[in-house]
Amino acid sequence: MGELHELTVAAATKRIASRELGAAEYVDAWRQAAAGDELNAYLWRAEGGGAEGEGPLAGIPVAVKDIFCTEGVPTTAASRILEGYRPPYTATAVRRLREAGAQLLGKTNLDEFAMGSSNENSAFGPVLNPWDRSRVPGGSSGGSAAAVAGGLAPWAIGTDTGGSIRQPAALCGIVGLKPTYGAISRYGMIAFASSLDQCGPLTRDVTDAALLLDVVQGRDGCDSTSVGIDGGIEAPSLEGLEGLRFAVPAELAHDAIEPGVRAVFEATLERIEQLGGSVAEAPLPHAEHGISAYYVIAPAEASSNLARYDGVRYGMRSEGAGDLIEMYESTRANGFGAEVKRRIMLGTYALSSGYYEAYYGRAQKVRTKIAEDFDAAFADFDFVVTPTSPSVAFGLGEKTGDPLAMYMNDFFTVPMSLAGIPAISIPAGLSEPDGGGPRLPVGFQIAAPAFAEQRLLEAAYALEQDIGFEPSPGEEGDG
Ligand code: GLN
Repeated sequence: MGELHELTVAAATKRIASRELGAAEYVDAWRQAAAGDELNAYLWRAEGGGAEGEGPLAGIPVAVKDIFCTEGVPTTAASRILEGYRPPYTATAVRRLREAGAQLLGKTNLDEFAMGSSNENSAFGPVLNPWDRSRVPGGSSGGSAAAVAGGLAPWAIGTDTGGSIRQPAALCGIVGLKPTYGAISRYGMIAFASSLDQCGPLTRDVTDAALLLDVVQGRDGCDSTSVGIDGGIEAPSLEGLEGLRFAVPAELAHDAIEPGVRAVFEATLERIEQLGGSVAEAPLPHAEHGISAYYVIAPAEASSNLARYDGVRYGMRSEGAGDLIEMYESTRANGFGAEVKRRIMLGTYALSSGYYEAYYGRAQKVRTKIAEDFDAAFADFDFVVTPTSPSVAFGLGEKTGDPLAMYMNDFFTVPMSLAGIPAISIPAGLSEPDGGGPRLPVGFQIAAPAFAEQRLLEAAYALEQDIGFEPSPGEEGDG
């Protein structure tokens, strides 16, 4: 494979168009790479020869998080409860990629129903980080991120409800974009928390993120919350950041940021200034309550969305139950993992009549306050920036015993999800983890106002050119 897997998709499409590279050869090379998966990144892989499609992405394979329905292809959401399920239809995002000529390379591993920050909640085992296989890739789109970073896919799609694209992108040293809520159709994306879930790209660079977003965004009659991005998305080309104003939220000076992550973040702020941008603190007073609000709202919506898995309509059914109720109960008891059950219980409790106002109602008010904080910041600034994650990739098993510590990984990503605004994570450098060890990628998060994706991608692109991050583990890692 060698050099081929270091090409960005944008570069590969050019070579394919000019016939320097055969589409079938390119697809086959990626099929072979995916077949050698040692990271547990894939739950299913396409077989057979790569038929040549037509369109701007002809011959380009794509890895798809296994939470997108794909007709006739197993779709599990990494849950036992969906074992054996083959959807009768395909998610709009995947269909759009196919219509552009792209081919399904495989379905990637994730935290069960996208609930998690480390990919350790998968019923099919954790994904390993290609930079250090004793560490997590981040979650929940960990399979997609590890596949791209580990040379097992040229690019991938994932979903982000509270950080699940941005956080694994950061921990694996690639680019991850959560678009504005409504930019991409959610049709066929298995629902976790419907008011937050968004599809987005995980790619080697910002240009590929723009290319992928342009293909999948758009209004879709099958999802009434989808509106698309006016005018589509073009390849970014901005040089320098003259005149652009970047806000650093004062309240997000979170104690638990690893010193190495803080150092890379501060060095990136200096780069912004060298490129002509300005950096200043701005108040985002309610953002620090994002985690509390998110972990009421997301479980509340999940408890309702997951009510449909009853052993009748989808996937597995427990055998040997005496009656219907017993069958529901034992299917759900055996089919769902511990984190999913925890969320269903939390969510059901928060929505119960005696507590609805105290928890769900209150959390919704906090959500509005956070959105208003961003509106106020964007009156004076073009972007809000934070580290993507408080730490670099942590060790497998390190946080599984402490759900609250796990939830804190989302401290920087959840506020943007609650506000519905777009945010991108780009790799900004490497840092030695607390406790020592080989240096690992650090993500830099940039958020922008709703539907300002083009501007966001331009700024991320300019910064990316300056940073010059090499997205393969190569000599630094053991992958
Ligand atoms: N880590 C968060 C959670 O567990 C976010 C997950 C996501 O964005 N899907 O809910």
